[in-house]
Amino acid sequence: MPTLVSHPEEVRIVSSRFGQGAAEIDRYLELGGYQSVRKAIDQGPDWIIAQMKASNLRGRGGAGFPTGMKWSFVPKQSAKPKYVLVNGDESEPGTCKDHLIFLHDPHAVIEGTIIAGLAIGAKMGFIYLRGEYRYLLKIMEKAIADAYAKGFLGKGIFGSQFDFEVVSQTGAGAYEVGEESALMESLEGKRGVPRIKPPFPAVVGLYGGPTVINNAETIATVPHIFRIGAEEYAKIGSERNGGTRLFCVSGHAARNGVYELPMGYNLKRLIYEVAGGIRDGRPLKAVVPGGSSTPVLLPNEIDIGLDFDQVGKAGSMLGSGGVVVLDDTVCMVDFALRTIAFYQHESCGWCIPCREGTDWLKKTLTRLHAGAGEMRDIDNVRYLAENMLGRTFCPLGDAAAMPTIAFVKKFRQEFEDHLDGKPCPHARHTVPELAAV
Ligand code: SF4
Repeated sequence: MPTLVSHPEEVRIVSSRFGQGAAEIDRYLELGGYQSVRKAIDQGPDWIIAQMKASNLRGRGGAGFPTGMKWSFVPKQSAKPKYVLVNGDESEPGTCKDHLIFLHDPHAVIEGTIIAGLAIGAKMGFIYLRGEYRYLLKIMEKAIADAYAKGFLGKGIFGSQFDFEVVSQTGAGAYEVGEESALMESLEGKRGVPRIKPPFPAVVGLYGGPTVINNAETIATVPHIFRIGAEEYAKIGSERNGGTRLFCVSGHAARNGVYELPMGYNLKRLIYEVAGGIRDGRPLKAVVPGGSSTPVLLPNEIDIGLDFDQVGKAGSMLGSGGVVVLDDTVCMVDFALRTIAFYQHESCGWCIPCREGTDWLKKTLTRLHAGAGEMRDIDNVRYLAENMLGRTFCPLGDAAAMPTIAFVKKFRQEFEDHLDGKPCPHARHTVPELAAV
């Protein structure tokens, strides 16, 4: 379970109610809860979308798409019902923030879902929790029941003409259903594999109706934007990257945990000041800045702002906010193998470049790591990953390929050091169950 940490540099907005008992609806109300939805009902859909655009909130799931723009894509008129779908299938290794939101502030998710529904003209919202978060379902279901009991869900919310229903559901435990179209398939009770796009969910989504799909942190941020004011919220972050973000620091930092910082906060400062530097004062070897699918950065590449644009310019991605800190004890061949083993396991098998590519990458990396590889294996790993990139049916293929390319490119010497039967200099990090592959 992620540690509830704090640091004076934090700007607590989404996490402002963590540890405050806000999962109980009366406490949530004491802390100003459900006031934003009241304001949104008074102002109406056009105002809500204009405010969301002004806030510069970008999707916190990883893609960083502007939320207000996403909502505006939903057609005003639709023969089919419209839906809001909250993506709480948080499965990216290194990421553990949505979990804290569901645990400490479930009503913020419900309130944000209602506001999104009001904005797009939906009458139904779904909150989808990761299969492994099944134990959070009780918290979410209680929060939903309490919201119904208080009249914040159901018919005529706050005495208006607006009706809205919310249900929550868990998956069966698959990384792949974090992809929005696979998420919809799963929610509809089918196998969680992606759909062909277009059509995009804003037009043809859940049960064939227009659907807005947002990450849980994105949705939980929405009520705060209406509480603070969209312009004020936008000012907290960097250019075109409004507000704050929950950064999950894990690995070899001295103080791992989830920290809420303004978008654009310096990555080096996050590691060395907020998270206390490297454990036991060891040298930093590498940083994975946004969850396991994002290309690794070297120590001389981390003096950058943590927003979608700046991390992109540095050759990686902000991703899901999972900052994995690696010290000099880490074998990068082993780390590459662990990473690809995850994606090989989670590949849904739908398309060949991903299904076969991740399998071959895992086999080759296993051989390399065991000291049984050849020079051409190193080139093959890079060649294979480069040929997966952009050629798979959904982003999971890219998620496997991108970090692999970066590992080989930036740590090639370390791969070569494993050739010709040489023992891994960091053998204690070997993954035993992978040795037989
Ligand atoms: Fe499935 Fe292809 Fe997506 Fe991999 S890239 S998860 S095989 S659809």
